[in-house]
Order: sequence, then C-alpha cells, then structure tokens
Amino acid sequence: MSFNRPFFGGNWKMNHGPSATRGFLKEFLEHYEPHDDRTVVFFPPAISLAEFRAASAGRDDLLTGIQDVFWEGSGAFTGSISANMAKDAGAGFALAGHSERRHVFGDSDEDVSRKVAAIAGEGLVPVLCVGELLEERDRGEVESVVTRQLAAGLSRLSSDQVEGIVIAYEPVWAIGTGRTASPEDANQAHELIRGLLNERVESAARAIPILYGGSVKPSNIEELLAAPEIDGVLVGGASLKASDFAEICSAGGG
Ligand code: PEP
Repeated sequence: MSFNRPFFGGNWKMNHGPSATRGFLKEFLEHYEPHDDRTVVFFPPAISLAEFRAASAGRDDLLTGIQDVFWEGSGAFTGSISANMAKDAGAGFALAGHSERRHVFGDSDEDVSRKVAAIAGEGLVPVLCVGELLEERDRGEVESVVTRQLAAGLSRLSSDQVEGIVIAYEPVWAIGTGRTASPEDANQAHELIRGLLNERVESAARAIPILYGGSVKPSNIEELLAAPEIDGVLVGGASLKASDFAEICSAGGG
C-alpha cells in the first residue's frame, strides 16, 4: 500500500457528535478543496462515522478511520466495536495504542498488539501510536520505550502487513499540552522508528508513513513537515476547528 505524502490525520477524540460533525464538514468543505498530492484521514467518534461519510459524500479525498477497536470479531463485549464492524461502517483506518487508550484506559502492549492484528486482519490500515511519557524522556528512555512499543505493536503482523501500516510518534508530554516536540527531537525519534522498521521489512520501510503528533497547529505545521523523516501529522485539538484543520491540511507538499 502506498500513501500520498504529506499525510494528515485528524483525531477528534470524544468530540463532535453527529450534529456537530455536520456543522464541521459544512465549514471544512468551504475551506479545503480536494488535493491529489496528500492523504487526509479523519477519526471521528464511532457514533459520528456514518454522519461524516454522508455529509462528505462526493469528497473521495477525505478518508475515515475509527479511534479504537476491540480485537474480537463479535460477541458479548458490551460497548466495544470490532474491526469488521468499523470496516462495514466505511472506516479504512484504525488507531491502535493512542496514548489516551494506553494511559487512561490501561491498554497494555499486548492489548495493542492484538488490536493491530485484528485491524490488519480485516484489511484496514492500522495507525500504531507510540511515544514516551515525560518522566521516561527525563530518564533517557525514549529509545527503549519506543522500541518496546513498536516491537509489541508489530509482533503479530506478517511482513506484508507491516508494509501496510502507518506509525504515529506521539510523545505523551506533547499531546493536548500546547508543548510541541522540536522538529529536531521529533525527527530523531522518527529516525529511530525508521531504523527499526528497516530491520523488519528492509527497503519497504521507506514507504511506511511515520506521523508526528503532539500539539500540531497551523503555526508549527510547516516546520514539522520540513523535517526529513516526518511524513505527516496526527492532530488532536487543532483538528476540531474546521478552518484550522483546513489550513493544516493545506500545508507542505510540492
Ligand atoms: C492526538 O490526540 O493524537 C494529539 C496529537 O492531540 P493534540 O494535537 O491535541 O496534542
């Protein structure tokens, strides 16, 4: 699988129900014309996915994903959504291992690896999120944390499935805090991830998008995209405002 770069993901988290989704899209479509040199994927709450797709009908450039799945296919798992159901609802992508799932809901590396395998097994594109806590960075553990999370996340995938994945490096201390990693720090972590992917799938590693996430906004998008190993961004807060996200999605490129 190959994706146009730059790659922009908008993670709405627990924001924008169906009515707000309609309002967002009305404004976003006025600000953002289709571009064929980039990838744009929205991750609305699952309950807004159908509304998103209906309100963006005809805009095939706007792709959709789901924020989380459970690894089982169906059954007595109240409140959960399977990868197969997400696919049926039109999702082409699914986040796995987002820091809020890891640190608020307690998803372990093992849970994340099962989710990634379920997502890839259904033919959806897993967006595997990895990143260190501030105390881990302060202890000099960026490399060991990112290496462990990446190895676990990919552990149940075949090489072909690894080639179809997207990685998001999201240092936890930069998510929703207004603190952005410098392009140099982010690029260094991306180089580490690229090297680890290279050990797994050699020449195909270059084609795997590695996104940066953490307080991305219109004022810092260009400098982040200018870093050689940053293929795109995963945006939380700034993806909720249509005009800001339209500006972000218009950045970079040729
Ligand atoms: C995110 O939720 O993935 C994220 C990066 O959030 P924010 O842009 O708000 O830091």
